[in-house]
Amino acid sequence: MAINLNNMPKLGFGLMRLPESDGAIDMEQVCKMVDHYMKMDKRYFDTAYVYHGGNSEVAAREALVKRYPRDSFMLATKLPAWEIKKESDVDRIFEEQLERAGVDYFDFYLLHSIEDGSNYDTYVKYGCFKWGIKKKEEGKIKHFGFSYHGSPELLEEILDAHPEVEFVQIQLNYLDRTNPVVRSEALYNILHERNIPIIVMEPVRGGMLANMAPDIEAKFKAKRPDDSVASWALRFVASLPGVMTVLSGMSNEEQIIDNIKTFTNFEPVSEEEQAIIDEVTQAILSIPQIGCTACKYCTPGCPQNISIPDVFRTINTLRRYPDDWRSKNFYNGLKGRSGAASDCIGCGQCEGVCPQHLPIISLLKEAAEILDK
Ligand code: SF4
Ligand code: SF4
Repeated sequence: MAINLNNMPKLGFGLMRLPESDGAIDMEQVCKMVDHYMKMDKRYFDTAYVYHGGNSEVAAREALVKRYPRDSFMLATKLPAWEIKKESDVDRIFEEQLERAGVDYFDFYLLHSIEDGSNYDTYVKYGCFKWGIKKKEEGKIKHFGFSYHGSPELLEEILDAHPEVEFVQIQLNYLDRTNPVVRSEALYNILHERNIPIIVMEPVRGGMLANMAPDIEAKFKAKRPDDSVASWALRFVASLPGVMTVLSGMSNEEQIIDNIKTFTNFEPVSEEEQAIIDEVTQAILSIPQIGCTACKYCTPGCPQNISIPDVFRTINTLRRYPDDWRSKNFYNGLKGRSGAASDCIGCGQCEGVCPQHLPIISLLKEAAEILDK
């Protein structure tokens, strides 16, 4: 049965960044979040075998499946190529997922994370596309597709080879439209031209488009003072034709309440608002970046063992998104393995070998101010 787009909610609940307490999923908070979301008239939950080390599917069972009628929500999960070592693993993983989630079927089932050079070969080798058709015939899967992080060229190749694919999940947000690595706009155009329904992941870029420098936020607030900055990112993708559902990986009640507000009486982005989004995109992209090419010529001779290119990568992200917690976590992990930016003794070895002639010592001082205080 084809996907009935009228049944699909614009906002989907991603279960990949659930709140945690003492290292485990905070089920009390998750239940409250699910209760908020279930008040919407259509509901779609997205989990995966690997989210939260396998506990996201269990959380779906406890917070959702056990507490609401099965036909009152749609549940999606994903097959991880990297866990498949032989053909029988596919059925084994699927059966485990049904048990973990406490369901007899999944409404949407995805081959997880196809990219150039990884995972697609595994799915082909173990017949996962044909397997998906079989599971649909058995009624264990209602709709079959994949999530995608690869190139436009590979996407075309897969879609040509597998007309059985009913939908595709891609990373799409206003900042990554022209990102030369993500190439979202090209992926979106391919799917839209083929009339393949699109599920959007990372609409807020892992939270980065929810927290920006104050002068950039002000551009949004001037137009819609009562709306969150995140709501602009969600409205941007949800306004695009062909986008079926926008997944938001919500981590607390505040986010879900804000998202529900955005999608209740949903207002598509107007031309004037699109111009503001374009202006913000340009403003973010024009924030100066440290021109480090990560060649690592500087690191072997550093007496303080500072991972200079990794520090600069962190600072580049934080210059654009000052509250990006992922960058801060990355840097804290880095400090366990190498020197901190503030450990620099100014010996100048690195500056002597840097082919980009970067003022590394002063840039590390800037980094130390931001990261080591
Ligand atoms: S100047 Fe600082 S970063 Fe550069 S090599 Fe010396 S200690 Fe390392
Ligand atoms: S030598 Fe310069 S460009 Fe290369 S990694 Fe070090 S700082 Fe970056």
